[in-house]
Amino acid sequence: MDTETARVLLVEAADRVLPGFPESLSRKAARALEQLGVTPLTGHTVVDVGAGSAAIQSPAGEVERIGARTAVWAAGVSASNLAAGLGREAGLELDRAGRLTVRADLTLPGHPDVFALGDMVRVQRPDGTPLPGLAPVAMQQGRYAASAIRRRLRNRPSRPFRYRDKGNLATIGRSKAVADIKGLRLSGFPAWALWLLVHLFYLIGFQNRLLVVLRWTISFLTRGRGARLIITSAEQTGVQQATVNGASATPPPLSGREAKAALTAAG
Ligand SMILES: Cc1cc2nc3c(=O)[nH]c(=O)nc-3n(C[C@H](O)[C@H](O)[C@H](O)COP(=O)(O)OP(=O)(O)OC[C@H]3O[C@@H](n4cnc5c(N)ncnc54)[C@H](O)[C@@H]3O)c2cc1C
Repeated sequence: MDTETARVLLVEAADRVLPGFPESLSRKAARALEQLGVTPLTGHTVVDVGAGSAAIQSPAGEVERIGARTAVWAAGVSASNLAAGLGREAGLELDRAGRLTVRADLTLPGHPDVFALGDMVRVQRPDGTPLPGLAPVAMQQGRYAASAIRRRLRNRPSRPFRYRDKGNLATIGRSKAVADIKGLRLSGFPAWALWLLVHLFYLIGFQNRLLVVLRWTISFLTRGRGARLIITSAEQTGVQQATVNGASATPPPLSGREAKAALTAAG
């Protein structure tokens, strides 16, 4: 594909990109995307994806079909099948994303001996909003479960799980990112440098950190791409699949307002 002639549309059902960030950073992120040649279509939803086109609905309800051979689906992660198995055995219902709702101590309702955490569970904050499906949430839940088990072994009670939001970082492209850390709002190169540092900090082991720094440096200097997409054709699999650095993502059925996709349309 000739990326010089490709049109890249970022379809976002919310009224701005990165809705989890303050509005000023959403605006900066949208500008950074435009500088990269991406057209953000906020307030739009994908209502159909076919072999050679995708249908996009505007906020006014008009549906436009756009020729696109490549659609990259990025509207959320669906839970592992293990959640469905646990739900079946424990007689619990799953939400739309296939997640189990757990108690405040991350155990299954009616099964205090079973902990479930990470992307496969739905945990509500005290204000009723669900925690996002992000790595820091899963990591904090893992530490909490380990400490709760240790406390039980000493016959000590545990307090409910509380997520400590340390801030949000999102990378957009080379030297482009946004950061919102406890009121400190950064964009551009400072946010990008912070994103790199934070990711290195959370990697386990010196060797991993060194390897990642080397790979990033080579990519930065050679303008190489860190991620490659291996696309299996729909004829081969029945479903179009994209593999990103080994992680496989199959588009779930389209679902109303949450629909969000990046589409590359030739020409
Ligand atoms: C493409 C992509 C990009 C992302 N980017 C970010 C990001 O920039 N920042 C961020 O914070 N979060 C990001 N996330 C979300 C983040 O990766 C998840 O929230 C986090 O990994 C959840 O951790 P987890 O342990 O619940 O699940 P996972 O990390 O998915 O780990 C679950 C593991 O369990 C294994 N497993 C599944 N079923 C079974 C079974 N039956 N038996 C044994 N093992 C099993 C799986 O193979 C997997 O290794 C991204 C997710 C994706 C898909």
